[in-house]
Amino acid sequence: MERGLPRPNVRARVRPRVLTMVRVDPDVCVLCGLCVGVCPPDAMELTPVKLVVLSNCTECGWCVPYCPVGAISGGRPVSGRLRRARPS
Ligand code: SF4
Ligand code: SF4
Repeated sequence: MERGLPRPNVRARVRPRVLTMVRVDPDVCVLCGLCVGVCPPDAMELTPVKLVVLSNCTECGWCVPYCPVGAISGGRPVSGRLRRARPS
């Protein structure tokens, strides 16, 4: 090994990270508001006619499994541990 170079961290792994934009299907959303209350950065706004994902959405994916009708898609995949901690 060349001198002066740091040793590689053999435990470090590049974690697969598929991150897609969070989308709400307006044809499926029943405007229940459940997702609004669980969004950590308060990035969802419920209007009388539609649910709006605001620009401060971090695409964390936290809201996705809370939707009772599966209207939300995208975001960062949530780990199994976090998924189990949330309602099915
Ligand atoms: S993906 Fe995260 S930040 Fe974006 S709306 Fe859902 S809970 Fe909020
Ligand atoms: S939880 Fe689902 S159905 Fe309820 S407001 Fe959010 S996107 Fe719409």
